[in-house]
Amino acid sequence: MAREKPEIWRCDHHYPIVVEKVGGGGRRARCLGCGVGGPERAGAEGAMLALREEARAGRRLGA
Ligand SMILES: [Zn+2]
Repeated sequence: MAREKPEIWRCDHHYPIVVEKVGGGGRRARCLGCGVGGPERAGAEGAMLALREEARAGRRLGA
């Protein structure tokens, strides 16, 4: 983990993204470039789309 957290809007997530399971049975995508995790979604595809959507919007969408 880097001590300085990069700003999400400077990454755009052109990096490999991993999808992790979260407690409620959903999925959360995480960017390997900057370590930012997206909002929880029901499926892996939705989680990845949500993370990319956040990057494009330049802000957090919230879970
Ligand atoms: Zn990123």
